[in-house]
Amino acid sequence: MNQPTHEGLARPDLGLRWRNRFATLGSGFFTPLRPQPLPDPYWVGTSPAVARELGLDESWLQSPVGLEVFSGNALPAGSQPLASVYSGHQFGVWAGQLGDGRALLLGSVDTPGAGELEIQLKGSGLTPYSRMGDGRAVLRSSIREFLCSEAMHALGIPTSRALCVTGSDAPVYRETAETAAVVTRVAPSFIRFGHFEHFSARGDEEALRALADHVIDHFYPQCREAAASEGNAYASLLEAVSRRTADMVARWQAAGFCHGVMNTDNMSILGLTIDYGPFQFMDGFDPAHICNHSDHQGRYAWNRQPNIAYWNLFCLGQALLPLIGEQEQALAALEPYKTAFPRALEARMREKLGLTDAQPGDRELIDGVLRLLAAGRVDYPIFWRRLSRHVAGDSLEPVRDLFADRDAADAWLLSFSERISHIPRGLAADLMLKTNPHVVLRNHLGEQAIRQAKLRDFSGVQHLLQALQAPFDESPQSAGFAGFPPDWASSIEISCSS
Ligand code: AMP
Ligand code: MG
Repeated sequence: MNQPTHEGLARPDLGLRWRNRFATLGSGFFTPLRPQPLPDPYWVGTSPAVARELGLDESWLQSPVGLEVFSGNALPAGSQPLASVYSGHQFGVWAGQLGDGRALLLGSVDTPGAGELEIQLKGSGLTPYSRMGDGRAVLRSSIREFLCSEAMHALGIPTSRALCVTGSDAPVYRETAETAAVVTRVAPSFIRFGHFEHFSARGDEEALRALADHVIDHFYPQCREAAASEGNAYASLLEAVSRRTADMVARWQAAGFCHGVMNTDNMSILGLTIDYGPFQFMDGFDPAHICNHSDHQGRYAWNRQPNIAYWNLFCLGQALLPLIGEQEQALAALEPYKTAFPRALEARMREKLGLTDAQPGDRELIDGVLRLLAAGRVDYPIFWRRLSRHVAGDSLEPVRDLFADRDAADAWLLSFSERISHIPRGLAADLMLKTNPHVVLRNHLGEQAIRQAKLRDFSGVQHLLQALQAPFDESPQSAGFAGFPPDWASSIEISCSS
C-alpha cells in the first residue's frame, strides 16, 4: 500500500482517470468528506463485468489494496469524495433536507465504452446528512442491492450498477445486531428528483438553474436544442425525464418488479432504478402486492407504481416551476407520460407474448392474461418462461398445470394461440426466450445467499450473481435458481430497515 497522505488515508492508484463532474456544481451542493474506516474488511461479492465497464483492472477486486479502497479505508488517488445534499417527499409527505446520509461519491471516471461514470460507496460512514442514522449499511441489504443492480441490468432495465460489496464484523444495530457492509455502486449520475426539490424549496433559483443546466448539458443536450426552436429548455427537460421514467416503470411492471420505496429522493433524474431497499420480484402474481413491510398503506404496491411515478414527476415539475415560468407549460410537459407509459408497457408486454407486431386486440390479450394470473395468484416468472418454452416447441401441459381454473386458462390460451399463429414461430420463441427470464432474483434466493454470507460463506452470492447476469440461459448452474419459491418465502419480511 502507498504511504498515507497528510489526510491520513492511503491513496493507491487504481489506474482510473478520475474527475468529479458533480463537484463542478459548486460547494453549495455537497460537503467534501472522507469515508469512515471499516475494521478488518473482507470481500462479499464482486462483479468483474462492472470492473470491465469502468476500465478497472479486475485484479483490484481480489487485491488487498482494492479491498481497502472499496471498504472506505483508502481513497483512490485522484478521487475527490463528497456527500451531496438533497431533499424529498417520503411516503407522500415533504421530508425536508435529506442527502447522502451514508453514501460518498468518490468521483467520476472516464470509461472505455460507457462514457463518464460516477462511483459511490454506500455504507461508508457518517456524513453531515446522516440525521439520526449511523451512516452504515448492513450486510443483508448490501447483498440485495448488489445482486439486484446486476440482475436488473441483465434484464435490460435501466439501473445503477454495482461493482462489489465488502463486509466487516463491525456491529450495526437495526432491529437486532447485524454487521456492516459497503456497496460500491456506479451510474452516470446519482442526481435525484430530490436534488431539484431541495434548491427549489429553499428558493435558491440560481442553484436550481445551475443544477438543471448541468443535467441538460451532460445528459439531455437535446433539451437545449428544443429550447432554441420552441421555448423552454427546462420544460423540455421535464418532458424528457417523464419519458425516461415512463420507460423505466413500464419495464418494472412487465418484469413483476416492485421498487418498494418510490420516494422522490429515490427517483433518478436519468430514469434509472436506484436505491434498492425492500424491492421484490413477485412470485405469485398479485397486482396489489406490497413488498415493503413498512408500507402499511400500500402506497408503493405494484399496481400503484405507474401513478406514483407520475406523482413524483409532478413534484419535479413543481420544483422546476421557477425555471419553467408558466404552470401550464409544466403541466404540458408532464402530459406525455400519460400516453408514453401505457404505450411502453404495451410494447414490453407484447415482447413477453412474443408478438413482433401490434394488433388492435393486443390490449385485451394482455389484460386477459394479467387477470387470469391474478385470479390464480399464478407464479409470474414461471408462467412466462413456460409459455415461452411452449411457443418454442414444448408441450402446453406445464402451462395449463399452473391454473386451477383450466377453462379460463384454456380460453385465454386459445386466443393467444390464434394471435401468435400469424407470427413465425421461431421469431416469437426467440423474442420470448430473451424477454422472459429463467432466473429472477426472488426474495428467497437473495435470502439464501444472505444466510450463507452471514456464516462467512460468500460462494452463494457469487453463484447467484452469475445466474442473474445471464438470466435467460438455462444452464446446469442456473437450474437450482429457477424453481417455485419454497413455502417459507412468503414469510420473509423486508422493511425499510437497511
Ligand atoms: P433510503 O430510504 O434508504 O433511500 O434513505 C432515505 C434517507 O435516509 C437518505 O437520505 C439516506 O441517506 C438516509 N439514510 C438511510 N439509512 C441511513 C443510515 N443508516 N445512516 C444515515 N443515513 C441514512
Ligand atoms: Mg434513498
